[in-house]
Amino acid sequence: MRILSIISFVLLAVIPSLAQTATSAENRPGPKVRFNPDMLDKNIDPCTDFYAYACSKWKAQNPIPADRSEWGRFDELEERGENIIRGILEKSSADNPGRSPVEQKIGDYYQSCMDESTIESAGTRPLEEEFKTIDALQSKQDLAKEVILLHRQGIGALFSFSSDQDFKDATQVIAEADQGGMSLPDRDYYLKEDPKSVELRKQYVEHVQKMFELFGDAPQRAAGEAKTVMDLETSLAKGALGRVSRRDPNKVYHKMTEKDLASLSPYFAWNVYLRGVGAPATQVLNVTEPEFFKQMDTAVNTAPLDEWKPYLRWHVVHSNAPFLPAKFVNENFKFFSATLSGTKELSPRWKRCTRYTNSDLGEAVGQKYVELTFGAEGKDRTLRMVRALEKALGGDIQSLTWIRPETEKQAQVKLAAITNRIGYPDKWRDYSTLKIVRGDALGNSLRANEFEFQRQLNKIGKPVDKNDWPYPPSTVDASYNPQLNNITFPAGILQPPFYDNQADDAINFGGIGAVIGHELTHGFDDEGSQFDSQGNLRDWWTAEDKKEFDQRTQCIADEYSSFTSVDDLKLNGKLTLGENTADNGGARIAYMALMDVLAGKEPPPIDGLTSKQRFFLGWANVWCQNRTDEVARMAVAVDPHSPGKWRINGVVSNMPEFREAYHCKADAPMVRQNACRVW
Ligand SMILES: [Zn+2]
Repeated sequence: MRILSIISFVLLAVIPSLAQTATSAENRPGPKVRFNPDMLDKNIDPCTDFYAYACSKWKAQNPIPADRSEWGRFDELEERGENIIRGILEKSSADNPGRSPVEQKIGDYYQSCMDESTIESAGTRPLEEEFKTIDALQSKQDLAKEVILLHRQGIGALFSFSSDQDFKDATQVIAEADQGGMSLPDRDYYLKEDPKSVELRKQYVEHVQKMFELFGDAPQRAAGEAKTVMDLETSLAKGALGRVSRRDPNKVYHKMTEKDLASLSPYFAWNVYLRGVGAPATQVLNVTEPEFFKQMDTAVNTAPLDEWKPYLRWHVVHSNAPFLPAKFVNENFKFFSATLSGTKELSPRWKRCTRYTNSDLGEAVGQKYVELTFGAEGKDRTLRMVRALEKALGGDIQSLTWIRPETEKQAQVKLAAITNRIGYPDKWRDYSTLKIVRGDALGNSLRANEFEFQRQLNKIGKPVDKNDWPYPPSTVDASYNPQLNNITFPAGILQPPFYDNQADDAINFGGIGAVIGHELTHGFDDEGSQFDSQGNLRDWWTAEDKKEFDQRTQCIADEYSSFTSVDDLKLNGKLTLGENTADNGGARIAYMALMDVLAGKEPPPIDGLTSKQRFFLGWANVWCQNRTDEVARMAVAVDPHSPGKWRINGVVSNMPEFREAYHCKADAPMVRQNACRVW
C-alpha cells in the first residue's frame, strides 16, 4: 500500500481496469490513434469550447463499449495492449515442456483462469477450509490470527498492513498500518445521506445478501449477515479519513512503537498480529490515522465475535469472486460494475484473465511485452524529451517573480535531483518462489497475493529499492513519486497518441511532452512541494514564498471547484488540486520546451494549423473521453484527476499562449478573466 507515493497521470485503481497497452512508436499501431485534423469540429469555435472543438467528433464516433464504463484515448491503447498480451499468454499457455519458467507461470496462470469447466466443478470447495476456520474462531484474540491469514491472501479485512518509505527518512522502509476493511470505493459511500448514496447502500446490502445466499445460506440468515457487514463497515468508515485530508502527508504520518499502538487500540491483539503476519521485527511503524484505529478498536470491542464472522466471510467471498463459478462472477459484476459504474456487460473472459494475469505477474508478462513492443530507440527519444522538459521547468522556476532566490535555489536543487525510469525496470522481479499450478485458478490468485504481500513486508528495515516499479511496463500511465523524487514512464504510454515519431514536434510536445511536464510539476504541487530533493517530508520554503504559493494553488482549487461533472455535481477542487496544478504546469513547460526547440522559427502550417495551435491539439487529443454518469459521479468522490473535458478547458483557459494561438477575443469563454498560474 502506498499512501502518497504514487501520483499517476490517469485513474488507475478505482475502476478495475488493470493497466495494459500496445505497441511502441516503432511498431506502427495504425493511423487511428494518431492526430487527425479531420476529427476537428469546424462548426465549433475553439475559443468557445476547445474540448468540443477537439473531441466532439471523436466522442460521437466512439461510444462506450458495452463491457466498459468509460472510453477514452487511454482505453484505446489499453485495449490494443490487451490484445498483444493475449497473444503472449495464449502462446505461453500451451503445455509444452520447452517453456521457460516465465512462460510456465504466465501461461499456466492464464490457462487456469480460462478453464471455466474446472472452476465450475470445483464450486466453492476452494474456500470451504477458510470458512471453517472462521466458524471455529473462539475469541477476539483469534480475530487477529484470522486477519493475518486474510491479509496474507490479499484480503483487506479490518485495516491494511504493508510497508512504505519513512516520510522523514526516505532512505528507509518501515511498516505501515492504514485504514481499510471497507468494500465500497470510499468512506463517503457509507456516510453520505443524499438519496443516491442511500439507494446505493440499499443495493450494496442486497448484493452482500445475495452472495451469502449463493454460498448456501438461507435468505433470512443471509439478510442478517448482510446487515451486519454493512454495520461493521460503516463503523470503520466513521473513523476513516477523507480523501482530501489523505493528500496531506502530515495527516497520514504518525510513527509509533508497537506499545503505543497497543495502547491506542487495546482490544485488537497487536502482539499476535505483528508476531504472526510475517513482518520483520521492527521498532516503529507508521500508523497513518490513529483515529481510524481507535474507531476500529471500539468496533472490535463492542461487536460480538459472531458478528465478525460474517464480516470476515464476506471479505473472503468478495475478494475471490472473480475466480469462482459464473453465478458469483455475475452477481459481483451486477453490483460492482453495473450498479456502481454503469457497465452494461461483463468483459469477455479472455480480457478478464489477461488483466488478472498482468496484475498478478506484471513483470513476467512485461518481459515478453517489452521484447515485442519497445526498442532502445524509444528510451533514447523519451530521455531527450525529459531533458528538454527539465530545462524548461528550470527556466520557468527562474523566471517567476513570486518565488524569491532562497526558495528558488531549493526548488532548482530538487529539480536537478529528479531521476527518471523509462520503459521497464533495469532488473526484472524474480517470481521463482511463486508457485503457479495449472488448473488452480483461485489458488494461483491467492498465492500471487501472498507473494506480493510478503514482498512488501520484506522491504521493512531495509534501504529503499529504487528499481522497484509500481506497475507493469505495459501500463498506459506515468507517475511521480515524491519520496523517491523520480518519474516513471512505462513502455505502455510511449506510443501514439502520446508520442508519435511520425508527428511534428508540436503534437508530441502537446502529448508526451505535457505528460512529462505534468509528472515533473508534481514535485512542486501542493503535496509534492512538501518533500525535499531527497524525498523527505521537510519544509524547504520560506514563509512568505509559501504564502504566495498557497494563494496560487487556492486559485486553481476555486477554479476547478466551479466545473460541473455530471448533473449538478461539481468537481472537488481540493481533491484534484495536485493533478490540476500538474496539468497546468505541465502544459506550460511543454509549451516553453517547444518554443525552445523551434528557436523563434515558425514552421509552415500543417493542415492549415500553426505549430502553436497544434501544440494545444496534441494535449486535447489525449483527453477525448466518454463516461457513464455512474463513473462521472464516482470519479468526483474518489478520483484526484479531473475529467478529460476540464483537463483540456481548465488548462487552455488559464494560458495566454492559447489565446494568442487561436486569436481569441478577450471575453471568449476559453479566456479566463482571473487566470490561475502556479508554475
Ligand atoms: Zn498526475
